[in-house]
Amino acid sequence: MRTAWPRPPQPKKPEEFNGWSGGLQPYVPGRDRVPVEECEIEETDFFFAGMLFVRPTTEVIVIHHVGVPDGDTSAERIHSAHIYNDWAGIGYHYVIRQDGTIQRGRPLITVGAHSYMHNIYSVGICLSGNFEVEMPTDAQIESLIELLSSLCRIYSIAPSDHTIVGHLDMNRDTGCPGYNLYMELPYVIDEVKNRRNN
Ligand SMILES: [Zn+2]
Repeated sequence: MRTAWPRPPQPKKPEEFNGWSGGLQPYVPGRDRVPVEECEIEETDFFFAGMLFVRPTTEVIVIHHVGVPDGDTSAERIHSAHIYNDWAGIGYHYVIRQDGTIQRGRPLITVGAHSYMHNIYSVGICLSGNFEVEMPTDAQIESLIELLSSLCRIYSIAPSDHTIVGHLDMNRDTGCPGYNLYMELPYVIDEVKNRRNN
């Protein structure tokens, strides 16, 4: 079994596009149409401290965990923590709580801050917990499958282990989304495929 924890503190990474657009279109709420998911999302309506940009393409969905601390961390707490990092705000597009509630993070249409060098073409989903030491709840896995199914339809993504990945598949300096969640991903991808065919 991999032993990703305890890990030394990681250096703070800047939010990639903070203060620099890289030629991206700024996100203008009300003007830019945001796709609507087929599953229930708890809206959070966060204030972002910096400009957000429209993501030009969506090819991959990256799965994360909160990691430290463990337990049922809210999207609000993550938003505060990421603002403290000098980011515009929460870097994930969704947070899935332990009761299965899916909370909105960044608007789906915008570039996230969750997978360094890969944000430009990916959506980030974070499950609350530390899955090096905890197990994701059944409700979390069920909500994850529903959300992924909806996102695959919206973006015409064929579900596979190339399109639905763990953070550690994108950035090798992390153990995220934790061993216990990472081991569930093949099952999750199969379920997304099955439901897509029905
Ligand atoms: Zn992560």
